[in-house]
Amino acid sequence: MADDDELHFTDDDVQADVEPNASQGPDRTAIARWRVLIVDDDPDVHAATEFALRDVFVLDRPLQFFHANSAAEAHALLQHEDDIAVIVLDVVMEEDDAGLRLVRIVRDELKLHETRIILRTGQPGYAPEMQAIRDFDINDYKTKSELTRTKLFTSLTSAIRSYDQIHSINRNRRALDKVVRWTSELMALSGVEAFAAGAIERLAALLGAPAAGLICVQYTSAQYSDSQRAVVIAALGRHAGYGGRSLAEVDDLSVRQAVQYCLQEKQNTYSAAGSVIFLLGHERCRVVAYIDPGDDIDADTRALADLFCTNIAVGLDNAFLFGRLHDHAYTDPLTALPNRLSLIEQLDKRLGTQDSARYTLALIDIDHFAEANDALGHSFGDQLLRAVAQRLLTALGSRCQFSRISGDTFAALGMVEDLMPAHLLALFSDPFVIDGQEMMLTVTIGVAHLADIDGNGIDAVKGANIALRRAKTGNRGEYSFYTRDMAVDIRERVRLLQALRHAIERQRLFLVYQPQLELQSGRVCGIEALLRWRTEDGQLIPPDRFIPIAEHSGMIVNIGDWVMRMACFQQAELAKHGFGQLRIGINVSVIQLRHPRFLVSLSTALADSGVNPSCVELEITESVAMEEADFISRMLDQIKALGVGIALDDFGTGFSSLSYLQRLKVDRLKIDRAFINDICTDDRARRIPELVIQLGQTLGFAVIAEGVEVQEQADALKSMGCDEAQGYFYARPMEVPMLIEWLSARKT
Ligand code: C2E
Ligand code: CA
Ligand code: CA
Repeated sequence: MADDDELHFTDDDVQADVEPNASQGPDRTAIARWRVLIVDDDPDVHAATEFALRDVFVLDRPLQFFHANSAAEAHALLQHEDDIAVIVLDVVMEEDDAGLRLVRIVRDELKLHETRIILRTGQPGYAPEMQAIRDFDINDYKTKSELTRTKLFTSLTSAIRSYDQIHSINRNRRALDKVVRWTSELMALSGVEAFAAGAIERLAALLGAPAAGLICVQYTSAQYSDSQRAVVIAALGRHAGYGGRSLAEVDDLSVRQAVQYCLQEKQNTYSAAGSVIFLLGHERCRVVAYIDPGDDIDADTRALADLFCTNIAVGLDNAFLFGRLHDHAYTDPLTALPNRLSLIEQLDKRLGTQDSARYTLALIDIDHFAEANDALGHSFGDQLLRAVAQRLLTALGSRCQFSRISGDTFAALGMVEDLMPAHLLALFSDPFVIDGQEMMLTVTIGVAHLADIDGNGIDAVKGANIALRRAKTGNRGEYSFYTRDMAVDIRERVRLLQALRHAIERQRLFLVYQPQLELQSGRVCGIEALLRWRTEDGQLIPPDRFIPIAEHSGMIVNIGDWVMRMACFQQAELAKHGFGQLRIGINVSVIQLRHPRFLVSLSTALADSGVNPSCVELEITESVAMEEADFISRMLDQIKALGVGIALDDFGTGFSSLSYLQRLKVDRLKIDRAFINDICTDDRARRIPELVIQLGQTLGFAVIAEGVEVQEQADALKSMGCDEAQGYFYARPMEVPMLIEWLSARKT
């Protein structure tokens, strides 16, 4: 029962051609469109409406049309299309009231309350009751003859505007609901840590940022602390390690400064560097939250975040919570000893006194605690830690202050004579009894006398830690003392590390090549690539100094990839000059081998350069090859599978077992130059090279001697049956042009 009146657009409309807001830019398509549904049983109406409105923009957004030819079709469509802004609806379709019935479905059944509805009908007689217009929230009612193009445009524009308003009001209401709900969820969390972590998580979600950030408290009352130290009480994401530590220990300078600034100025900032929010200013403390950067933050979100923070502040301000907050910040819940933060404050206090030089800080670290913890269970581990705390307190509690500063490290602060390492070690000579089970523990101790500390409490802990690490790695026994040199050492390394970063960016690293010769024929058989770093002022830094640092920082992975590529390309280049048979030796660090990308990097370097893999040999230090035997031998198999050779570098300095050596797919042993030095002057010094050469012959490895500086050494090695040699006697490492010259001269 279609109403047969034609929908037509009169001339006045065409002339008017009204298109306010119709400014068109090139990126129009990227903008979300207003979704408009046209429901009519007359196909011409669809076409005419869409044609009339084709280039219209409302609030700077274009339209997108959906079509339904009946109420039933519209019903089906609305069930899966959401965010329809406006329905332009014919009243009379399959039935006289099909349109109105659809309106009822839209509002009551589909619960689409935001969608605007414009009714149109052919005959005025079919107009709905005023009551219905109000009840069903119908925006507009027009007969088709009234509905000129201009009117249709006006009507649609106002419908979209009101849809937009309703939609954003509802969105804000939902966000507000969320804030209210989150607040009550937060309040339900017990424990400061959970509360603060929950606050970070929800704040981050609200700001559209990753769940990473921290909450920091600064105590301003002497009752709780006599320093104005700021303490991180909760930390998530990339900041996770800082929970329970001092703000001064946060490595990211910009985060530290932003939090410090906010603590002072009490001002919130939402910027591309992250959000910093002043949560609470109290007579006893101030609390600031920092959240990592996320989405752009608009004014609405900012207002919501401010609102949410007011709610968080209420929770934090709770006196009960405050007491817990303080305890939590200063004690280790497991052993009830003071924690690291507390120790640092004690140290700060102590370092400020006249007789601080009579005091010492000892860090006592339980050996292999992690293994015991894994093997025997965490509850066993916890009991063990409590037992250690108890023993320390019983023996020295009246004379020293103990704290637990990390998982298995205890600290003791006391007079020098009370904290002699030997005495502390003796405390562990008796076994601990846990669950009726006896357990022996050993510890390693790092000691820093406060007299040797030029700084604050954090520096003292750092110093003792350096000594502890020395004691653990240097095989220097069970304890070690911090000295000022160690700090200089570390500062120097840090400086060098920064300079190395710069050098890499500015491409100050390059390779030189040192020839290797067959001893019998004197023929050049290979070259070894050696890395060089020339600083801006022309100074050469030896690889022995910067490679360990590059290894330690992980930078060696990228540097090593570059060396591999460079060397492969160089070999391919030499082949073009007629030196294609030369083998190129590339030094590879174990850190590189352990990197999961290593084999890919190697095979890419081979493929990209087109080098013949059999002309490439990786040099791996013997001592390294002996660690992690299974891993290394599997790795070497895979390298060999690519057709690349392997030499064991610095051979003789490690302690290879013969059976293991046999298992390794190695081509060459490289006798360390330390063993070549004295072979002509000292008979006993010959033994190691002789041994290695025999070993090579027995196991079928070639042998090369490095560091050959004089004729006599070359002769001696030749007489022992050594295959190849390398050293200043033949040539120093050279840059490419010189190398080519040298090789060419040698050839003729
Ligand atoms: P290395 O692999 O044992 O390299 C041999 C070192 O002995 C080189 O020192 C070389 O210049 C030096 N040398 C060669 N002939 C003689 C000689 O007749 N007498 C004396 N006294 N020395 C000689 P360089 O270039 O300073 O390299 C030192 C170490 O740095 C290398 O020891 C190697 O372990 C490491 N290295 C060098 N380049 C790289 C690299 O690209 N990657 C890695 N991971 N390590 C590298
Ligand atoms: Ca080498
Ligand atoms: Ca060597």
